[in-house]
Amino acid sequence: MTEKAKRDTPEQEDFRRYCREWLATNVPKPPNFKPLKSGAEVATEEHLAYYLAWQRSAYNAGLVGCDYPTEYGGGGRTRCQLVANQEMLLAKTPIFPGVIGLGMAAPTIYFHAAEELKRRLLPKLLSGEELWCQGFSEPGAGSDLASVQTFAERKGDKWLINGHKIWTSTAQFATWMILLARTDRSDKYNGLTYFVVPIKSELGKSVTVRPLIKITGETGFNEELFDGLEIDDALRLDDVGKGWQVAMTTLAHERGAGSLTTPMSGGQGSEEKRDTSIAGFPLLKLAQQCTRNNKPADQDPVINDKVMQMLVRQVGIKQHRRLRGVSGLAEYQRFALQDKLLSTEYVQDAAAVALEIEGPSGTLSNFDKHAPDNGKWPLAYLSSFGSTIAAGTSEIQRNILGERVLDLAKSK
Ligand SMILES: Cc1cc2nc3c(=O)[nH]c(=O)nc-3n(C[C@H](O)[C@H](O)[C@H](O)COP(=O)(O)OP(=O)(O)OC[C@H]3O[C@@H](n4cnc5c(N)ncnc54)[C@H](O)[C@@H]3O)c2cc1C
Repeated sequence: MTEKAKRDTPEQEDFRRYCREWLATNVPKPPNFKPLKSGAEVATEEHLAYYLAWQRSAYNAGLVGCDYPTEYGGGGRTRCQLVANQEMLLAKTPIFPGVIGLGMAAPTIYFHAAEELKRRLLPKLLSGEELWCQGFSEPGAGSDLASVQTFAERKGDKWLINGHKIWTSTAQFATWMILLARTDRSDKYNGLTYFVVPIKSELGKSVTVRPLIKITGETGFNEELFDGLEIDDALRLDDVGKGWQVAMTTLAHERGAGSLTTPMSGGQGSEEKRDTSIAGFPLLKLAQQCTRNNKPADQDPVINDKVMQMLVRQVGIKQHRRLRGVSGLAEYQRFALQDKLLSTEYVQDAAAVALEIEGPSGTLSNFDKHAPDNGKWPLAYLSSFGSTIAAGTSEIQRNILGERVLDLAKSK
């Protein structure tokens, strides 16, 4: 029995056994394409079909939404999603494409929607039948999210929505959007209201979804133009003017609060056995393979110094994860904030060092057979910038940590 299994409640223990048995025969064969390791943002239709079939199958088996009440399509269990997640990771299952729905929209709907709306939306969200996206950012509102200008105007028991959202991951596949809109221009925070809006149905025809190409050349981002979309008041979450508080529920889950309860999979594609020794440190191995000034790059003292600095940082992050306290939600949220900051900046700096080691061959992409390390570093470097921006930039994470954890003076 593993250390984690030893702490299982009787319900978790039974469920763990069930998950293990089911997963032993139901993990789909690896796809023909290179598996996606994170969200479905850069998925093609082929990827999407494969990952959606997996989400549906895991949902039908009770491994997705385990802890949501049965009337909302969940499994009605207690603290069992964590068990399913652990077992899915061990079984190296594919990722779930509906991460924005599962990780952010579902808990927000669960805590803030009216009863009928929960029953209507949650089952299809959990099964992956309907995918979701997050309509928060706008051209003039990102870090300062409360500045959103997309306006919802009340018309009896309807709302008329006009405005512009941007940087919306997976909107190209989504049926629904969680939307933060302005309903009163005279009050920055209390003038916001939260809605769920259809962006694909006949009703959503007043929304134009336009793809945006990322620095990596991949698709995934979108912008949406709302041109008089009319929705029922029944699609509002919580009270008019309470949108900021509802958005805090979404952000808390985006920034880690849901990591224990959100269905998570994604072991597929990980290396069979990772060498965790110093000799197996990827940057060190890369330096041994590449040349610099006609000598192996690991003989260059400047390169060596940088590789060792990255190794020390990696060890520090691992220790931080190992020693983290997860006794309460607040503690977990604090850990998740720190971890996001440390790990995204680490990945960015590690990829920069890798490109320095590779020198001119660092310009070769993963489609070139001469590219060192199968060409993974140029894409990793370009992608790394998105990670330090998404879900709150590094500067914003530092502000939050400074103000709320270290109790420093507020920035404004
Ligand atoms: C990969 C990725 C996925 C995303 N997916 C979504 C999505 O699905 N839905 C969605 O709504 N949005 C999404 N976003 C948008 C993301 O939330 C915003 O990009 C982010 O909040 C930053 O906002 P901004 O781009 O407007 O930059 P700005 O807020 O304009 O910031 C510009 C710079 O100023 C700095 N800055 C701003 N304010 C402060 C401050 N108070 N103190 C110190 N520095 C500050 C920032 O750190 C940054 O360096 C995504 C972004 C990325 C990169």
